[in-house]
Amino acid sequence: MSKIDIDLYSDTQTRPTPGMRDAMANAEVGDEQRDEDPSTNRLCDMAAEMLGKEAAVFMPSGTMCNQIAILVHCRPGDDIIADKTSHIINSEGGGPAVFSGTSIRPIDGVRGIFTAEQAEAAMRKPRRHAPRTRMIEIEQTANSGGGTIWPLETVRAVGKVAQDNGLVLHMDGARLPNAVVASGVAARDFAEPFDSLWIDLSKGLGCPIGAVLAGSKDFILQAWQWKQRMGGAMRQSGVIAAAGVYALENNIDRMVDDHDNARMFAENVANLPGVAVDMDSVQTNMVFFDVSGTGMTAAEVHERLLKRGVRIGENDKYRMRVVTHLDVTRDHVATAAEALRDVVLENAAVMA
Ligand SMILES: *Cc1c(COP(=O)(O)O)cnc(C)c1O
Repeated sequence: MSKIDIDLYSDTQTRPTPGMRDAMANAEVGDEQRDEDPSTNRLCDMAAEMLGKEAAVFMPSGTMCNQIAILVHCRPGDDIIADKTSHIINSEGGGPAVFSGTSIRPIDGVRGIFTAEQAEAAMRKPRRHAPRTRMIEIEQTANSGGGTIWPLETVRAVGKVAQDNGLVLHMDGARLPNAVVASGVAARDFAEPFDSLWIDLSKGLGCPIGAVLAGSKDFILQAWQWKQRMGGAMRQSGVIAAAGVYALENNIDRMVDDHDNARMFAENVANLPGVAVDMDSVQTNMVFFDVSGTGMTAAEVHERLLKRGVRIGENDKYRMRVVTHLDVTRDHVATAAEALRDVVLENAAVMA
């Protein structure tokens, strides 16, 4: 593989900064399984406070947060309502079917976001033949929707449908901090209607590992038991939890830069021949674009950009995704947009 100078593949590509590494090196530690790791306890307290929930638990990954939340809330044969693009449907190895024996009813939302009416219509009438609708799940921001933000009114309207019908409401908040920074809505306001939610530390927050799952005390007690069962309980986890504490204190407000950079990239490439960007979907740190008009597939564009030291993800045959993050500067993004322009124009010249 060519050397990657500019990595726009994902916000998971961030490396811990010197400040974060210092925090990790100096972390106070103990035994997490015995609730004796002070840094992990601090991280959980901070996350619970930020999200307005009674308690929180540190997890190795966001995927484990989703799977454990589903395990706590659902029983085999239960049905979950989620957007068709959601991570729990497409990127967790069929976990809901494997671990909790649940099915998911996909909703055809717009840019990853569905309405209260759609959620209501997706609920199944109680009858012997149908699975029991148990949970509504939303993703903030909606990753495959374009990094789009669930507006607070929509969150609340869907929350009301859940409440009126006795359903559990769960948020995959992998990029909730991005939604908070971009919208100005507080995390606890977004979180208010949810029975459970989590944030990822290893995405835009820049940590090497980890996620935090929050909810009521009783929910967290049960989530802890699943974590223990599945082998997710740790020992001196403070070394990594300290990175999370550092990130919550230092790496949220700066996401404004990531969002500005994503918008700049989108604007710089929107008018390239054969490249289509849905500008309305550019709301946070992602830019999805379609290259079907260039005469190249996403895989071809990906390869040609790699030769220029730029990595941009290929999501589909013609769909590509740029994600801005802590390790990407404004100059990097401008250079990447130029590289894409060169690749597109060169190919057009060859074809002419
Ligand atoms: C990355 C991601 C996850 C999974 O998080 P990991 O920490 O990688 O397991 C879940 N949901 C969304 C929307 C994500 O982007």
